[in-house]
Amino acid sequence: MNMRSPPPAAPRDRRNRPMHDLRISITDRCNFRCVYCMPKTVFGRDYPFLPREELLTYEEIVRLARLFAAQGVCKVRLTGGEPLLRKDVERLIEQLATIPGLELTLTTNGSLLAARASSLRDAGLHRVTVSLDALDDDVFKRMNDADYPVARVLAGIEAAAACGLAPVKVNMVVKRGTNDNEILPMTRHFRGSGHILRFIEYMDAGNANAWQVKEVVPAGEVVRRIDAEFPLEAVDPNYEGEVAERWRYRDGGGEIGVIASVTQAFCSGCTRIRLSTDGKLYTCLFATSGHDLRSLLRGGAGDEQIADAIARIWQARDDRYSELRAAGAPAAQKIEMSYIGG
Ligand code: SAM
Ligand code: SF4
Ligand code: SF4
Repeated sequence: MNMRSPPPAAPRDRRNRPMHDLRISITDRCNFRCVYCMPKTVFGRDYPFLPREELLTYEEIVRLARLFAAQGVCKVRLTGGEPLLRKDVERLIEQLATIPGLELTLTTNGSLLAARASSLRDAGLHRVTVSLDALDDDVFKRMNDADYPVARVLAGIEAAAACGLAPVKVNMVVKRGTNDNEILPMTRHFRGSGHILRFIEYMDAGNANAWQVKEVVPAGEVVRRIDAEFPLEAVDPNYEGEVAERWRYRDGGGEIGVIASVTQAFCSGCTRIRLSTDGKLYTCLFATSGHDLRSLLRGGAGDEQIADAIARIWQARDDRYSELRAAGAPAAQKIEMSYIGG
């Protein structure tokens, strides 16, 4: 795939950050009820999902993706909810793959991946990230709260790697007291596999998860725990602004990543923008409101008008929630992760 440099007119936000990564949530539905994301404690199994007509169509998503690409976006990640629950996602990927120079990725809980990996790859997907929070079935089921077994997610990871959606990144959200005893078993399992295991600090995204700081396991602690069994050394970032801090095993067993969204805010290099399932644009994971692009699309706006709106939204961007949180700023009413896409 050809990477290209951003066009000269690519907008910069008020902190001089370019817009590089677009995350598109294609459904707010999910077959899991992860305790840190869509806990049953709030709505039971019956979340108030968006009606079908509110969702952006694939044609609308592709039209927007082209306009974003023209303004410097070089990577699109499909997410959700669970993106593989949306019908014929391969049809969307095929259309996105016609946009020159876009890296196409997808984040999934892995439950439907084993059967779909090769059709996703054939449609033009480049890589997948699979979320997996434990190797032990009881712990995993406590995390996903949907009685879903580990083996099927592992089969999805292997199928993805086998058909070339590699390297597969495996994301583990660490919640103290729930799955932190799985850090080392996960490490032992994925060491030497070619897959890149990444530990994510449990974030205060949305309001449903009743987040408490004491449940966060700092990335530094994760690295210390692993280093005690498998000595690690730091690796330089792949590119400027990479959010995962990279470490490799000193004996050549591969690498891991840690994403310290809470303890080491990385807002200053944040180049991400998010499109919600119903076509609202969010300039931060912790934004309290979005900009309605769907009404522009459905109101007959031309490409130039929509491109102009996107550029103005980015140029006005001043978000740095995680830095402010670190400085003790109070949390505002936030958008749920399953709607905005993680
Ligand atoms: N359903 C797909 C999945 O789980 O991979 C995609 C959507 S999910 C919202 C995207 C990512 O956000 C997942 O890796 C998930 O673990 C992560 N996530 C959700 N809530 C989180 C939280 N409170 N803190 C940290 N990561 C979270
Ligand atoms: Fe679903 Fe992903 Fe949220 Fe878990 S993290 S509830 S799999 S959207
Ligand atoms: Fe980016 Fe907002 Fe996260 Fe900071 S808090 S890294 S600005 S999404």
